[in-house]
Amino acid sequence: MDKKFLHNILDRVIGGAPLSRDDWRWLLSEGAAPDVADLLRSEASRIATENFGKGVFVRGLIEISSYCRNNCNYCGLRCSNREALRYRLTKEEILDCCREGASLGFNTFVLQGGEDVKQDDAWIVDVVRSIKELFPDKAVTLSVGERSVEGYRAMRKAGADRYLLRHETRSDEHYARLHPSTMSAEKRRASLQTLKSLGFQTGSGMMIGSPYQTMENIVDDLMYLDELRPQMIGIGPFIPAKNTPFAQFPAGSVDLTILVVSLLRLRFQKALIPATTALASIDEQGRERAILAGANVVMPNLSPLDVRSKYSIYDGKKSLGSESAQALDELARRLATIGYHIDFGRGDYNEK
Ligand code: SF4
Repeated sequence: MDKKFLHNILDRVIGGAPLSRDDWRWLLSEGAAPDVADLLRSEASRIATENFGKGVFVRGLIEISSYCRNNCNYCGLRCSNREALRYRLTKEEILDCCREGASLGFNTFVLQGGEDVKQDDAWIVDVVRSIKELFPDKAVTLSVGERSVEGYRAMRKAGADRYLLRHETRSDEHYARLHPSTMSAEKRRASLQTLKSLGFQTGSGMMIGSPYQTMENIVDDLMYLDELRPQMIGIGPFIPAKNTPFAQFPAGSVDLTILVVSLLRLRFQKALIPATTALASIDEQGRERAILAGANVVMPNLSPLDVRSKYSIYDGKKSLGSESAQALDELARRLATIGYHIDFGRGDYNEK
C-alpha cells in the first residue's frame, strides 16, 4: 500500500477537495486493511471530537406505525408480509411518549413509521403541531417515508425540523432489485431535494451489504452523498428479516459498515451520524465501535413497551437495554467505558 498516496487522499477527503470514483474505490478497498482502517478510524474520531467533544446526542425514537403500503424486499413491515404484527399509535399515545421523553431529558423526538395510509399527511401535520404546542423548544424529526410535496411543505410549516429518508442506493438498477416497481430511485432523490429546499435538516443513507450490492454501488452512494450534502447520514448493515424475499441472504459486514462510518465522518465533518440500532443489534459492541469511528448520535427507543417487538423491520432488532429510552443510565455507563457521555442538547446541524 502506497503510504504517500494514503496521506494525500486523506488530506483531500478531509479538506473537501473533489474526489474521483477511483479515489473512493481506493478508500473502500485499501481501507479494508486493518492498519489503514485503524488510521481512518482514529482520524475520524479526532474530527468528531474536535466538532462535538466526547458528547453523543440522544434522540427519542417513537415508532408510530407498523403498517406500510409499500413492499420493499428487505423489510419485515412490507405489506405482503401476512405474519407481521401491525399496530398504529394514536396521537395521544405519541404525545404520551413525548411527555415521557421530555421527563427523561430528550430534546429531539423522532417519529418513524411505515407509509401508513391512515396516518396521512394531514394527520402527521396535526401530530407535529400538537407536539410543538406542548414542547416548542424540542426538535421533531420525521421518518415517515415518501410523501407529497404539499405534505412535506405542510409538515415543515407545522414545525417539523428534520426529515430522514434514506436514498438506500444510488444505483437505479440496484434500487429496482430492492424495491417493488411502484417505487423509484429517481422519485426518492427528488424527495430528498425537495426536503432540503424546504429547509428540513435532511437525512439520507443506505444499508451496507444489502442483497446484490457491489462495491461500485457503495462508491456511487458516497459520490451521491457528496453531491447531496445531507445534514444527517444513517447507515447500518443489512440484516435479513423473516418472511421477506431476502430472508435467506447473509447480513452485511460490520467491519465494512464501520469503515464507511469513518469515511463519512472524514468527509462530512459537521454531519449528525448515528450509531444505528442495526449495528448495535448485530454486534454487541457495534454502537461503541461506530462512535469510535466518528458517529455522534444514538436513538434510544421511546415507543410504548408493548408495541416495540412489533416494529420488526429486521430480525433481532434491539429495543431494550441500552437501546431503550428508559435505560439511559445503562447507555451512559456503556458510553463511559469508551470515554464518552450523553449530550442532551437538541443537536441541530451547525455548519460553523
Ligand atoms: S422499508 Fe419503509 S417503505 Fe419499505 S416496506 Fe419497510 S416500512 Fe415500508
